[in-house]
Amino acid sequence: MATSVREEQGEAAAERRWSARVSAPLLARLAARAAVAAPASELLVEAPFSGETLGSVPKGTPADVAAACATARDAQADWARRSFAERAAVLLRFHDLLIDNAAEILDIIQLETGKARKHAFDEVLDTAIQARYYAHTAAEFLRPRRRQGALPILTKAWEHHHPRGVVGIIAPWNYALTLAVGDAIPALMAGNGVVIKPDAQTPFAALWAAGLLEEAGLPRGLLGIVSGRGAELGAPLIEAVDYLMFTGSTATGAKVAAQAAGALIDCSMELGGKNPLLVLEDASLRRAVPGAVRGVTSNSGQLCISIERIYVHDAVYDEFTGRLAEALRGLRLGASLTFAEDMGSLVSAEQLAKVEAHVGDAVAKGAEVLAGGKARPDLGPYFYEPTLLAGVTGEMELCRAETFGPVASVYRCSSAEEMVGLANDSRYGLNASVWTRDARAGRELAARLQSGTVNINEAYSATWASASPMGGFKESGLGRRHGRQGIEKYTEAQTIAVERLLAIDTPPFLSNGQYAAVMSTAIKLMRYVPGIK
Ligand code: NAD
Repeated sequence: MATSVREEQGEAAAERRWSARVSAPLLARLAARAAVAAPASELLVEAPFSGETLGSVPKGTPADVAAACATARDAQADWARRSFAERAAVLLRFHDLLIDNAAEILDIIQLETGKARKHAFDEVLDTAIQARYYAHTAAEFLRPRRRQGALPILTKAWEHHHPRGVVGIIAPWNYALTLAVGDAIPALMAGNGVVIKPDAQTPFAALWAAGLLEEAGLPRGLLGIVSGRGAELGAPLIEAVDYLMFTGSTATGAKVAAQAAGALIDCSMELGGKNPLLVLEDASLRRAVPGAVRGVTSNSGQLCISIERIYVHDAVYDEFTGRLAEALRGLRLGASLTFAEDMGSLVSAEQLAKVEAHVGDAVAKGAEVLAGGKARPDLGPYFYEPTLLAGVTGEMELCRAETFGPVASVYRCSSAEEMVGLANDSRYGLNASVWTRDARAGRELAARLQSGTVNINEAYSATWASASPMGGFKESGLGRRHGRQGIEKYTEAQTIAVERLLAIDTPPFLSNGQYAAVMSTAIKLMRYVPGIK
């Protein structure tokens, strides 16, 4: 890819073809989809594989955000009246279109993020699975259901779920499709309008998917995308929406959550991690080594649930560490729009600088590099080798801070107890991984980890399932995506109850004292009536 880009450097930007499928005119058409009325300026989008300008999008303003939210609100009223089956049909058509057009979106994701194609493919798979899952389950989760009333028999109650109205989504650059559009799917299925603010570095994937959703039958304007800077558009978005879904760093998440609290809107915060992987004494190293490789290098380590700390039992430490270092050194890195590579580039100069600073600081303070440890400018401006460090101590930045690169530190431990203590000694609690041949003991140990997800004999993807909640303990976040919680959060719960025969008050033929006595007896008896909870 890098070669062909260099060969084309002489061409006029407007005619550039980035791949067989993605050209400058296509990117310009996607940019025109942004809900930005009269752009005063453009934001340049870089292609991390080469450092060249991929294209540009209009820079949205607070007024654009307000207008996109108003448009989504208008379209939402009709959308909310449609049946679950009608909404599901749109999302299932989107599912099919996404799979059929995967090659084009894979190119776009790779070009704007610099990730390897296999990691871009994870985004397509995940987004399609979200569409299928919520198309099939939204009715079951959200249809009105009978609930026990205040006074069973006398009170009949129902729980209803109404769409919130307009949901705002602020998404990061690392999974430009999944964390923007994937998180919009349950919001749409629940009957909401959605306005997405993608990261300024990666707007094209969401713009492309919005076009595909419209092709699948989503009403125009129901899903708006405003391209621009988070610091400028975050506050106006929060002011105009009824719920906020934020994915990004803990530092930004804390600011955004405070703004949402000020606006008295509910929010879900999916934030950072410093995720541990535990290799117990009885682990199968044949499985644990490739598992750890995946955990450390997926998406070049720019994955919130990727592995950055590895705790290994003394009995297997030397063998595991040697094999892991060798496997990391053997990975194929490169910038091609094919499935040939195991790992791609980092996303930006800023991300490379952070990774280099963390590793440089650790090495300067005495850490040992077991694999990698260097940038690879020969492959592209932001490539960095998969890196394993030993001898990392508390005064080194990367010991506790999220690096967000293909870098892990390995620690020798003498017991599972020690590993649990070290794994939990973190401000974060997003994901963890445990390797053992004893699945039952593994589950017991997993339940003691302060982590929103724990994968046994897998690094991160076993728990990334549409049906199970995903999110963080501690400073890794608030709220959950996926499963029932992942769609209920996009609704307002409403209780409707009908009172029959008697009011919940003293009836005219009893005194207050007699009423209290009757009720006390009734309450005592109710404890023994089957079916009354
Ligand atoms: P970031 O916090 O810098 O940016 C995330 C989004 O917030 C971007 O769209 C950005 O434009 C916007 N933003 C920035 N400042 C803002 C402000 N003041 N108000 C409103 N919005 C603002 O994070 P990033 O560097 O893009 O993403 C990497 C981080 O995201 C890592 O910490 C990673 O762990 C985390 N992450 C978490 C999950 C998860 O599910 N828990 C998933 C992916 C990434």
